[in-house]
Amino acid sequence: MGRFINQDDFLGDVSNPPSIHRFMYAHARPTFFVDPSGRAVFFDEKGNQIGADGKPDEDVFFVVPSRVPNPEKPGKTMKNPELERIKKTTKKKEFVVVEEQRSAVQLPPREVREELVAAVERSDAPSATDPVGGFHEEGGVFAEASDGRTIVIPAQPGDAADPAVDTHAEIDVFNSKDPALWNDVGADGEIRGTYHVHPSGTREEVVGPQQSAGSTSFGATKRSKAFFGHPDGSQGPSGMDFDAARVRQGQQHIVVGARDDKVYFHDEDRVLVTFPVEQIVDPEKKK
Ligand SMILES: [Zn+2]
Repeated sequence: MGRFINQDDFLGDVSNPPSIHRFMYAHARPTFFVDPSGRAVFFDEKGNQIGADGKPDEDVFFVVPSRVPNPEKPGKTMKNPELERIKKTTKKKEFVVVEEQRSAVQLPPREVREELVAAVERSDAPSATDPVGGFHEEGGVFAEASDGRTIVIPAQPGDAADPAVDTHAEIDVFNSKDPALWNDVGADGEIRGTYHVHPSGTREEVVGPQQSAGSTSFGATKRSKAFFGHPDGSQGPSGMDFDAARVRQGQQHIVVGARDDKVYFHDEDRVLVTFPVEQIVDPEKKK
């Protein structure tokens, strides 16, 4: 287990914009998504349920993207055949075999999803360096213990940052608040993923004519908002988040936008799935 720091650019970072749902079909890693029960609930990338096993278990998968490159017609796309197969299987009232799926993204266990919501609340609340709240990152690690339990290990809050002045906010997700929790993971336990929150805070920035004593300035003073996120207002993974994911392939990488209210699941170079924060704990209640 290595230590690292997630650093987040939040003013600019145009070099690595989150390109959502670029073709990940060929890159999916099936071993990561195996469900030992062989049963699951499937959603498409819009959150529509496309298949189910008829029993209320905790396994939730997203099958993305909805279209993939057509191998017979270069430059053209076609419906993701897996989506079609799952729909067909469900129509016949048969179970979908998870091991056969290659393009699914599995949501982490419920306790992790509940912690994502709690981490947003902590990021919005004051911390030692953030007297107002909304200007520091929260995050942590989740692991599967030797006995199969999911262990969530929240980190110390990151230092407060000011989006109008600082170049990035950061958190060391391995700087655990309660290091004793690692004892619960055990020697044979495995880290399953990391998560951190991109804060909600905004600052008003005055951009415009300089005013000096004795002079009059012309033109309106422009006010713009400085915030944590990409220029388009979204709060998906930064270039540094993608870099961190490259170092830890095979684990799940989760960023939560506290201002845009989205959970982003990403790998080393793309966003795989986004999901509204308010539906992350009970995804099946959607619609
Ligand atoms: Zn980040």
